[in-house]
Amino acid sequence: MDHYCVFGHPIEHSKSPWIQSRFAELTGQTLQYEKTLVPLDAFKTTVDAFKASGGKGCNVTLPFKSEAAALATHCSPRVALAQACNTLKFEGDQIYGDNTDGLGLVRDLVHNAGFSLKGRRILLIGAGGAAAGVLGPLLAEQAHSIWVANRSVDKAVQLVARHASLAQLEGVDCQAFGLNHEAILSQSFDLVINASSSSLHNAALPVPASVLQTNGLACDLMYGPAALAFMQWAQDHGTQARDGLGMLVEQAAASFQLWRGVQPPTQQVLADLRALVSLSH
Ligand code: NDP
Repeated sequence: MDHYCVFGHPIEHSKSPWIQSRFAELTGQTLQYEKTLVPLDAFKTTVDAFKASGGKGCNVTLPFKSEAAALATHCSPRVALAQACNTLKFEGDQIYGDNTDGLGLVRDLVHNAGFSLKGRRILLIGAGGAAAGVLGPLLAEQAHSIWVANRSVDKAVQLVARHASLAQLEGVDCQAFGLNHEAILSQSFDLVINASSSSLHNAALPVPASVLQTNGLACDLMYGPAALAFMQWAQDHGTQARDGLGMLVEQAAASFQLWRGVQPPTQQVLADLRALVSLSH
């Protein structure tokens, strides 16, 4: 039986084994998928040992996504832009690295939420690992503009600078701002994506409601009870709200497709997972 794993620290909360096992069941694939807590100083040795034992590939979560990118012998252009990798596929001596976070978000917004991104004005809040993973795939959808706003403006500036060529190629106005910049506060956006960890930390909403648009969409990459305050805030202002559970399932599906060559039925798995998450809280 083929073995896969998700490596992280912490890892207990991970839904990946449940999602990947459901994908396998629904597509008739035979595989085993586990989660492993990796000591903070032992990412490379743990992955090497898993690979040597016959493992076929793995997912990587916090805080090892940068180390995973460095471990890959070759990788997708998405990894180079994000400087982070959430999926490794072992191919003999070689390790292929990909970042499926952005593919997952785009697929969730476009296919599951039915929200086309082309020509839209998008506000992306945050410039950490999640924002870095999604910016490239969002640019490829040819929005009108993607403005990246972060608490620490220098990180937003660096992220946008790394994506400048892609933004130009796709014809997208991509700029970096601090969270309180007048340009952000003085207009509304078709789509507001909270890729900061404000919800994770139960912190105040990172931007005022003036950024929201009636009939627009606001998406927090967080999911579960921690995302509810952001979603309620959006709904209170007439904006459709979405959490990050769909992205979680869709990024997992892109990993599954990379490893197994089969596209799993994500909408059914998302519905099942949503029921499971709401039951467990
Ligand atoms: P990082 O730690 O890499 O980055 C955190 C980001 O949030 C930084 O830009 C930081 O700003 C900003 N931030 C932190 N606290 C606040 C606050 N109180 N107000 C405003 N901004 C704040 O985290 P990740 O990027 O990995 O994760 C971000 C979120 O995305 C998390 O909620 C995570 O759960 C979610 N996520 C969801 C996924 C999914 O599949 N649904 C996948 C990956 C992540 P600064 O630079 O100033 O510190």
